[in-house]
Amino acid sequence: MKCELVFVGTELLLGDILNTNAQYLSKKLAALGFDVLFQCVVGDNPERLKEVLKEGLERSDIIITTGGLGPTKDDLTKEVCASMFSLPLEMHEESLKRVHDYFKAKNAPMPKSNEKQALMPRGAVVFKNDNGTAPGCAIEKDGKHIIILPGPPREMHMMFENGALPYLKKYSTHVIISHSVRTFGIGESLMAEKAGELLDMQNPTVAPYAKSGEALLRVTAKAETEEEAEKLIAPVIGEIKNRLGSLVYGIDRGSMEEAVVALLKEKKLTLATAESCTGGLIAKRITDIPGASDIFGCGIVSYSNEIKHSVLGVQNELLEKYGAVSEAVAASMALGAKKASGADVAVSVTGIAGPASDNTNKPVGLVYIAVTDGENFRIKKLLTGHAEKGCRDYNRTVSASVALNEVRLFILEKESNKKDIESFIKSF
Ligand code: AMP
Ligand code: MG
Repeated sequence: MKCELVFVGTELLLGDILNTNAQYLSKKLAALGFDVLFQCVVGDNPERLKEVLKEGLERSDIIITTGGLGPTKDDLTKEVCASMFSLPLEMHEESLKRVHDYFKAKNAPMPKSNEKQALMPRGAVVFKNDNGTAPGCAIEKDGKHIIILPGPPREMHMMFENGALPYLKKYSTHVIISHSVRTFGIGESLMAEKAGELLDMQNPTVAPYAKSGEALLRVTAKAETEEEAEKLIAPVIGEIKNRLGSLVYGIDRGSMEEAVVALLKEKKLTLATAESCTGGLIAKRITDIPGASDIFGCGIVSYSNEIKHSVLGVQNELLEKYGAVSEAVAASMALGAKKASGADVAVSVTGIAGPASDNTNKPVGLVYIAVTDGENFRIKKLLTGHAEKGCRDYNRTVSASVALNEVRLFILEKESNKKDIESFIKSF
């Protein structure tokens, strides 16, 4: 079924409010397997609304409108839609009672103008409004449908779920299912290169996206049933995983921390953190995940050199000779956190978040990250390349993300970890 969306409201055209109804409805309709071919925003103007509906009815099977259902004179969506199918408006007694009850419950007098909200096109399927006064409805003529929903998102969402969705499901002939393969540590273009000819597939389709510093591949299949769609998607995700290996940190995962917590749980490992420039951000992100207490018991924010020494046992000579932002100190911090906490794995971060550098000639955005289990270790030098005003947030967020990813790789890529952290530290 071809579908299009019409958003009514001059406030949308003026940019006073964001058209969040567009995103909401497009997502819902895609999941139902409807092709949303056009979206249109039109002001509170009956002539222009008519024009848009006329055009829409010529090329689509279903039009969904939001907005323009208020009690005032400029709210005319229902009137205009009814006129497209030559339907008169009639008082819908049940809706009228609901409007009256709505005001009664608030102990407020009902303005006469609100009665107009209970007028419905003859023969309409009426959708009640559980969050406001304006009911919505669906009308049909010669196989074409117009579904009329209120503008306020709170009202529209509920009415869509309870009214429009069951109505639409009767006309849905297939489903569209999407899964996101999320990667870390690779740019969008390199990821796309590795995906190669998979990007040319038709069903499922594979599309690359960049999202808050990460790259992901969205795999989308269209089929008659969910099971069939999943069957089409599974081998393609398998192939993507083959090509991208441990760059893939999860399928449909909300975040890197969610992936790390799940992995630690799966491997029955506990984690401790020793943070300098991230100031507890890694511990925060880990503990954002419900159930983190199974794998996390200790986070140390060792911001000063004194605490790096007294709590984590970092040797003063290393701090003096190499500075706090150095491989030697990162490794010592991780080992210190491992010993102090008794956790299975410890991660440390020390870096220059900026905007000013420390008193060395090291660049802003230089960060060292170490992970150890007391014997094996991994160490990473990160140069974020951001030293501009306001870079601090970025540098800290990226450092925390990379540190979490390093924990993940430490566990997954045992063969690439180095051995004997104690002698590594002694070598300085
Ligand atoms: P209505 O009276 O049905 O025209 O809608 C009234 C209010 O709903 C507007 O003032 C907005 O705050 C909100 N609204 C209308 N359309 C949209 C939209 N497309 N996206 C988000 N909010 C909307
Ligand atoms: Mg309006």
